[in-house]
Amino acid sequence: MLKKLIFNRTFTECESEKEETKEPQKNEKVLIIGSGMLGITSAYFLSKRGCEVTVIDKDNPIRGATEQNGNTVTFIPYPAWTTMNVKQVIKDTLTFSSTPLCYFRLSLLLDSHFRFWVRKYFKNRNSESVKQSNAALARLTKFSISLFDKFIDDCTENNPDLVEYHFETLHAIYNGLSEKEIQEKRELVEYMNKFEEGTKLVSPERYDASFAYNIPLRCFNTGRFVNYMRTRLSEKHGVHFLDGEIKAVTCSDSQIKSLEYSDSNLETKTLEGFDKYVVCAGIESVNIGKMVGLKVPLMGFKGYSLNVFVEDKEIPEFSSIRMPETICISRVGYNTGGMVRVTGFADIDGNNIDPVPWRKDMLIEMAKKFVGEDAYDESKASHWVGLRPLCADDVPLIGKSSKFNNLFWNTGHGPRGITQSVGSALLLDSLISGHEIPKDLVAEDYNPKRFDI
Ligand SMILES: Cc1cc2nc3c(=O)[nH]c(=O)nc-3n(C[C@H](O)[C@H](O)[C@H](O)COP(=O)(O)OP(=O)(O)OC[C@H]3O[C@@H](n4cnc5c(N)ncnc54)[C@H](O)[C@@H]3O)c2cc1C
Repeated sequence: MLKKLIFNRTFTECESEKEETKEPQKNEKVLIIGSGMLGITSAYFLSKRGCEVTVIDKDNPIRGATEQNGNTVTFIPYPAWTTMNVKQVIKDTLTFSSTPLCYFRLSLLLDSHFRFWVRKYFKNRNSESVKQSNAALARLTKFSISLFDKFIDDCTENNPDLVEYHFETLHAIYNGLSEKEIQEKRELVEYMNKFEEGTKLVSPERYDASFAYNIPLRCFNTGRFVNYMRTRLSEKHGVHFLDGEIKAVTCSDSQIKSLEYSDSNLETKTLEGFDKYVVCAGIESVNIGKMVGLKVPLMGFKGYSLNVFVEDKEIPEFSSIRMPETICISRVGYNTGGMVRVTGFADIDGNNIDPVPWRKDMLIEMAKKFVGEDAYDESKASHWVGLRPLCADDVPLIGKSSKFNNLFWNTGHGPRGITQSVGSALLLDSLISGHEIPKDLVAEDYNPKRFDI
């Protein structure tokens, strides 16, 4: 049984609060595109509510961002990856003036989607917008974390080891900060403590670093969770899963009419008769948008992941985030299987999952450093590349389309899609079923209308 931390509100409170407000709408037919973390959590809440849910994904088992991310549920990264200065990264690349930690592919300057995204990004960088985005992110993150333990208990029937879910402390360790930056970080830690109790400054000497703090962490194997949930949702909640890739959408001015997909035998089939359609397609939500003439302001921030399998005694003493390397070392298999996951980088390299070879070498170097040169066994390691679907204002898109009244979005969670999934799915469920919005959230913050999609 999980040891619970103390939160303001519980999942059950939140659920019953919603149930009091309105009778569940039965038998509404909902189609969800994508079975990553956002698609699966959405399917869970909607099916519990009584909707008839179908989920379609082109990959089974999944291969999107949910397959091998850092596997952490925690308040950081806060503020966001996008607060890293995209302008500076582009300038550094153009002038060869330094080695940017974030790799930027220059040819993207000719890419119309990147230019569209970056225009929206700059539009949202003034201090008032950043403040609003950060507040919206903090609310959603806190709310979602507060629901997670109960959610995992419910999904696994109180057997969180099934998906390697456990508590730890994440050690955030910074090197090379100036005095001014250290002061800023101190203020940030103080601020984060308001949202995540237990966030505290610790002595940097312990890590031979210039600054350090600890923050609560929940860690679990998200790829395993999602694949497990496909079976559970179909057996216990009657969710229907389809293997296939959406290729085209037919719509009127205000309604999605039908979808065309290519099934696992490459046969073209049609999906129709749904009351509502939900896009949870990660970075590929951009492509679904194109099919209905909408420009979805998401850019993939490319990350790399490396799974290392070691003996228990070789597992690092704690999970950590290392800056400026932008590397996360998560003890996913702590107590259950000896798997350490090393993830990192946030390259602006286009919406593709082609690896940049030297990034792989950098991760191997880091892995060796943390599990020990002798313990690292390349033959047992697995490498992977994924895209964080980052919205231009850093805030996910959750809610009804401004153009189609039966289309909903639950996407664009960037570097926090695992952490924010449960809260986002509950919000989506409220919006779809017409129930009261969870009182911790302001639905407008995430409304896709802000981008006219
Ligand atoms: C290196 C890295 C580390 C990260 N670390 C963390 C972390 O520690 N904590 C955290 O909270 N977040 C983390 N993230 C972010 C997190 O992984 C993502 O935000 C989250 O997984 C996004 O989930 P999703 O369901 O939106 O997208 P995805 O997981 O990408 O799922 C989208 C699904 O849609 C399907 N799909 C797309 N197009 C179609 C189509 N046309 N037809 C049918 N199916 C389609 C895809 O096959 C895919 O399965 C990390 C990301 C990366 C890359």
